[in-house]
Amino acid sequence: MVFSGLAEKLQETFRKLKGKGRLTEEDVDEALKEVRRALLDADVNFKVVKDFQKKVKERAVGSDVLTSLTPGQQVIKIVHEELSELMGGVQSKINLSSKPPTVVMMVGLQGGGKTTTSAKLSNMLRKGGRRPLLVAADVYRPAAIKQLQVLGAQLDIPVFSMGDKNSPVDIARAALENAQSNSRDLVIIDTAGRLHVDDQLMTELESIKAAVKPHEILLVVDAMTGQVAVNVAETFNQRLGLDGVVLTKLDGDTRGGAALSIKAVTGCPIKFAGVGEKLDAIEPFHPDRMADRILGMGDVMTLIEKAQANFDAEQVAKLNKKIKAADFTLEDFMQQIQEVKKLGPLQQIISMIPGLGSAKKLKDLGEIDEKELVYVEAIVNSMTPWERRHTHEISGSRKKRIARGSGTSVQEVNRLLKQFEQTRKMMKQFADMEKNIKKGGKMG
Ligand code: GDP
Repeated sequence: MVFSGLAEKLQETFRKLKGKGRLTEEDVDEALKEVRRALLDADVNFKVVKDFQKKVKERAVGSDVLTSLTPGQQVIKIVHEELSELMGGVQSKINLSSKPPTVVMMVGLQGGGKTTTSAKLSNMLRKGGRRPLLVAADVYRPAAIKQLQVLGAQLDIPVFSMGDKNSPVDIARAALENAQSNSRDLVIIDTAGRLHVDDQLMTELESIKAAVKPHEILLVVDAMTGQVAVNVAETFNQRLGLDGVVLTKLDGDTRGGAALSIKAVTGCPIKFAGVGEKLDAIEPFHPDRMADRILGMGDVMTLIEKAQANFDAEQVAKLNKKIKAADFTLEDFMQQIQEVKKLGPLQQIISMIPGLGSAKKLKDLGEIDEKELVYVEAIVNSMTPWERRHTHEISGSRKKRIARGSGTSVQEVNRLLKQFEQTRKMMKQFADMEKNIKKGGKMG
């Protein structure tokens, strides 16, 4: 999970600060030293870390003081703001021109996730009402065209290709005409990548840029490559002038060095993050929410947005009512698990819930194995309707029967009942939080 190492260290540092009624300059220095170490361990660019530390120090000992906060909270607030600022502060949106078609040129090195991201992006923007056309302009990697065609077919989005015998510039030009005559208002061009930055590739990308004048040039880089991704971004930006970066494989990146350095080093904002292999595993990149995650404040907004995009509105309303009425049963629990599975891997979802985000707590909860869900289903199915509604009153002999019926053990039945109880509590918190957000309140 992204930032898990950094999150754990920073949260530990700040736990120590929070407890203090007064902070001396030495306390702040000590904490900042730890912050610095944590950022360097997370593979954040050295210069970025130095600037960061200086800024926080200046603000923490300067006039930037609010009487409503304890000194510890104040330092945390400053670190939060500066972390968010490092990543661009506010969300940077993709530039979709009002005069169709919008042309988006995807660039990057091989293996970074360019082809997958082109498909993900077209899918996401289609949900927003666009009519995308994918363009296969990578004529060098043998399987690239086929790969894009397969992804396009999965999504039912047309893919324009002219095989690998034409030049990428000709393909891009023809694709634009094709889009116009088929009233496609968004053209996403998957260009060729190489293993390393090379001059020939850059020259070719410059020619495509000159030929189709894209509204948006997005660089796709692999978050797991850390500072290499930052260097790649710098080079591409110098040659092509990037409008933004898509950081892929954030789901596998535990350090977060690229996420925290790219904007600060290159000036290019991260616009989207890839968070899995599936075609809906892409999110707009929100610097403030990322800072929330790092400092263990969870990312409830992203979770709610995901839920709203994936859940059946009627069901959500029904569920909300049940939660409020404290009438959430095991059957709902099971149904909820099915729904939640649609949101993505469980670990990832849990990381967004405040208080559950830190790696330490996750370890306490025990590994969550998606295969266990099969057992959950079997156990619930072995219960009578009365038992499902009276989970507190299930006797030992009933538990034995349920275990036998589901091919599990009494311990497993007990564990499920305990998890259900925890979920019920969490759902209650979640509902309260949602209420607060709607009221315009703050969480944290
Ligand atoms: P390209 O050479 O840049 O076009 O890269 P591909 O689109 O072929 O992606 C390379 C590999 O990375 C594929 O196996 C993708 O499934 C995988 N990939 C792409 N984006 C993500 C992501 O956000 N998370 C994960 N876990 N895998 C990704």
